[in-house]
Amino acid sequence: MSLRLTTPVSGLPGIGDKAATDLASIHVKTVRDLLWYVPFRYDDFSKRVPIAKAPIDTPVTIDARIKSIGLRPSRSSRVKIVDAVIEDETGELKVIWFNQLYLLKTMLVGSKHSFAGLIDHRFGKTFSNPIHEPVGQNVNTGRIVPVYGLTGGITMRKLRDAIKRSLTIVDTLPDWLPSEIVASKELPALSAALSSVHFPESHEALQRGIDRLKFDELFLHQMLFEEVRRDRKTKNATAIPIDEASIKTFVATLPFTLTRAQKVAAWEIVQDLAKDVPMNRLLEGDVGSGKTVVAAIAAHAAMEPPLPLGERDGERGVSVVYLAPTEILATQQHKAFCKMMPSRNIALLTHNQIFYNAEKVKRAELIEKISSGAVDCLIGTHAVLQEGIDVSNASLVIIDEQHRFGVAQRHALLHRNPSPQPSPSQGREYAPHLLSMTATPIPRSLALTIYGDLELSILDELPKGRKPIGTAMVPVEQRVGMWKHVRSEIESGRQAFVICPLIDPSDSLGSKSVTEVEKMLTALSPHRGESGERGVLNGLRVTTLHGKLKSDEKQKRNEDFRDGKIDVLVSTTVVEVGVDVPNATVMVIMSAERFGLAQLHQLRGRVGRSDLQSYCYLLPDDLNPHSNNRLQAVVESQNGFELAERDLELRGAGNVFGNAQSGFPDFQFATSADVPLMKQARDWSQKLLLEKDFFEKHPLVRARIEEALEQIHLE
Ligand code: ADP
Ligand code: MG
Repeated sequence: MSLRLTTPVSGLPGIGDKAATDLASIHVKTVRDLLWYVPFRYDDFSKRVPIAKAPIDTPVTIDARIKSIGLRPSRSSRVKIVDAVIEDETGELKVIWFNQLYLLKTMLVGSKHSFAGLIDHRFGKTFSNPIHEPVGQNVNTGRIVPVYGLTGGITMRKLRDAIKRSLTIVDTLPDWLPSEIVASKELPALSAALSSVHFPESHEALQRGIDRLKFDELFLHQMLFEEVRRDRKTKNATAIPIDEASIKTFVATLPFTLTRAQKVAAWEIVQDLAKDVPMNRLLEGDVGSGKTVVAAIAAHAAMEPPLPLGERDGERGVSVVYLAPTEILATQQHKAFCKMMPSRNIALLTHNQIFYNAEKVKRAELIEKISSGAVDCLIGTHAVLQEGIDVSNASLVIIDEQHRFGVAQRHALLHRNPSPQPSPSQGREYAPHLLSMTATPIPRSLALTIYGDLELSILDELPKGRKPIGTAMVPVEQRVGMWKHVRSEIESGRQAFVICPLIDPSDSLGSKSVTEVEKMLTALSPHRGESGERGVLNGLRVTTLHGKLKSDEKQKRNEDFRDGKIDVLVSTTVVEVGVDVPNATVMVIMSAERFGLAQLHQLRGRVGRSDLQSYCYLLPDDLNPHSNNRLQAVVESQNGFELAERDLELRGAGNVFGNAQSGFPDFQFATSADVPLMKQARDWSQKLLLEKDFFEKHPLVRARIEEALEQIHLE
């Protein structure tokens, strides 16, 4: 069968129906998909040596004959050991394999193979569990070997063979990058890059291949931004005149005085809002720095009544749209806004929670209120995008925790309006002002590189009176004492979070689940001989919170916690982003080593949100040196910028490709360490877009951008 990019993976050698189903579960369905299934690491077996020169503990490949092979007699039925001796012209070497009895049939005495792995020295020089294949095959040995994430029953060998086969048609893959870029020799062609990423001929070729894949997504990203940027440049926004008196009155009603940084940021924003070009500003501030109130000042300004809507049709619509990444957060911000702006009409729309001010309403009612102009501010989640609600008249769009929304979603939001009304006088279309907010600490220079020419406001100080959060790693023998401290905090009127990685006790990794932990902490009395942690919180009001609860129940528990009706919330990471309960002063993180550094910092940010002294306790289950360093970094620093840098260092060079944890959801491959490539992508996109008719000349680039924008509608 002749192979094509669209051939289903089941058409490849060794991939049967079962394997195809397994691959489909990780979205690999066709030969093309397989080409993009990149290794997560590489083993360098390219060093080929004769037996006499084979070094200890260094990855090598040896071509040799089987001199003898047999099953080691053993009483243990669990571990079967195959013993062999291999030989070449220079000498002999002992080999052992564990639990691979089939080798007795395939490794015939006298047959020649390539063996790859590490030689150890514990019981004399021994090759332990070497990978092997026929001499000259060069797929699993004798080269830099790709290591892929496996799924279901697929073996590494099968996957490598299937990818090797797929690579034979890599040349038929159209290269979407403008030929100038490849011609400049800065980057390899797509086909060469993919070949090198899977089966690199050298470390240099591998690096160039990786760079090319990263460049592709960075370049696409720059193009998308450029698209948004150009588009916005041609549009008008509603100019919102600065009403200083009104702002001052509003700020005076707040229960605290603004920090210097908040004042500066708010001022920068209202000045942008006063212009008739759409604002594009990112408000960046560490957890707890008080971004919400800055957003509220902007929202308040944009809601100043009644806005002359210029030459638009005059019908009053929603003035402000506020998007949050989770239902919990949207609900919380809705409450906060209602409280700060009691004279405004503020609605909440998520998949499950629909409110008009403090009143729960039906979806249809809310839609009706929106279209009749009775909603000033709409707060919600992705649901707002999906439900096709017309917010095209909004003068301000606020995106909280914007890194949780991909670039395509942000784009879609700003282009929601199906037929924006051109203003007859100038023939220009209309676009809202955009305020994005993030707690992800990105240095200014990097932010500008990634996000293009947006404006940046940084909250670089915490509100007065905040004390550093006492953070400690708690070894097993100190846990009882720690829980007693938690108890005493609660008895003096405070509240606590206990965070667990997973919900069900069935988790085979043994991490603490929400239900288990809640049971353990509230047990009536410790059983004899059991750990003293059992029952330490009994008699207190403890409840659980996790993603599997019904939305209303989640909502209720959240509110009860906020209202002080619950003392301890045992929760998964659903509280990670944005949740604000200033009376909570203790954060206990179970199985702490299972969380990423940025995540731990975010979680800790749920306490220390008032002038009360707060504490964060990290309870690891199982520490290795790497996770120990990570937790130690959280103990030593409270500064998000510092921790982000530390995170990069700790990740090390081993991880060539980024992943979901790297905090850049727009990127599958690139990481925040790829600044030079980001710059390169930016330079190229700016240069190329100066060309007249660029998109006409490069239909593949156009198609790629459209495909990326299309994605949002599928999500
Ligand atoms: P984040 O930047 O993490 O989104 P929030 O906006 O949720 O932070 O603010 C954290 C807490 O600090 C909230 O309870 C808020 O009311 C409070 N806060 C905000 N600004 C100030 C201030 N200037 N002084 C005192 N408390 C403040
Ligand atoms: Mg926030």
